[in-house]
Amino acid sequence: MSLLEVEGLSVWMQAGRTRIPIVEDVSYAVDPAEIFGIAGESGSGKTLSVLALIQLLPRGMIATGRARLDGRDLLTLPRRAMRHVRGKEVAMVFQDPLTSLHPMLPIGRQMIEHVRIHENISRRAARTRAVELLTEVQIPDPQSALQSFPHQLSGGMRQRVAIASALATRPRLLIADEPTTALDVTVQAGILQLLDRLRRKHELAVMLITHDLGVLSAIADAVHVMYAGRIVESGRAGDLLLSPRHPYTRALLDALPHADDEQRRELRAIPGQPPQPFARPPGCAFHPRCPYERPECRTDRPELLAVDGRRRLACHVDPFRSLS
Ligand code: SF4
Repeated sequence: MSLLEVEGLSVWMQAGRTRIPIVEDVSYAVDPAEIFGIAGESGSGKTLSVLALIQLLPRGMIATGRARLDGRDLLTLPRRAMRHVRGKEVAMVFQDPLTSLHPMLPIGRQMIEHVRIHENISRRAARTRAVELLTEVQIPDPQSALQSFPHQLSGGMRQRVAIASALATRPRLLIADEPTTALDVTVQAGILQLLDRLRRKHELAVMLITHDLGVLSAIADAVHVMYAGRIVESGRAGDLLLSPRHPYTRALLDALPHADDEQRRELRAIPGQPPQPFARPPGCAFHPRCPYERPECRTDRPELLAVDGRRRLACHVDPFRSLS
């Protein structure tokens, strides 16, 4: 049974009497212990689509649809109940841990206060829990890390501390928004291995948001590719990343650097830019950038349809069908 079921989620920006759609009609299910990837360029709506789940949308934006966690609709939960969900059941890790860690307070004080807000335990017990958590995320010297200020730790160590804090209340769902983007590749690999180990150990579902399909290829079970606020392709990670069918997914993969590709001299950038929400083209939003575009692509928006097993695709042409 799924942990989270999202149905017809849309995010709107209210501009006077007009509502501009930022995320449109997104549906999916996340299973316990699953690493659920959401990929797309900046501006595709991937971050806003998950901020909506925990009622953290910026002012002036609203969400419609349904997002059930244990039968409760997160989108309509009263503020107080949502605070409990955010602290206890759903946790979030951001790209830059400095945005979630207070720069002027030692790590220990922040972690102890965080634990005590959600668990009715003594300061001493909270400190013990903080040490356990730092040990769990493989911080080499947890006692001295507790005394450190965030700026005294490396980027990778700060991200481990942020993950440890997120785990403090034993959440069942961890939302990780570009958690490795600012890190060196070796540090990035360490953080991905850590997430993989934690989800197995704690049955923790992880929603991993990234612009980098290479990150998802390392650990994701399911991948959803977003473009201009909509899911354009989704499926099991191995299947989708080995044989992408949407031209946009294929373009994202072609843009990845390959260290073992001796023939390649240039990276294949995707021409053009993703459209702004208020200037999305009619038909398929990707058509101005798509080499497979046909006349119907300019007028008719393709629906996201099941095409093969657990694969869903939104494309009139499906140019890579024979390769999958
Ligand atoms: Fe390209 Fe047309 Fe498919 Fe859109 S619907 S991705 S424009 S082929």
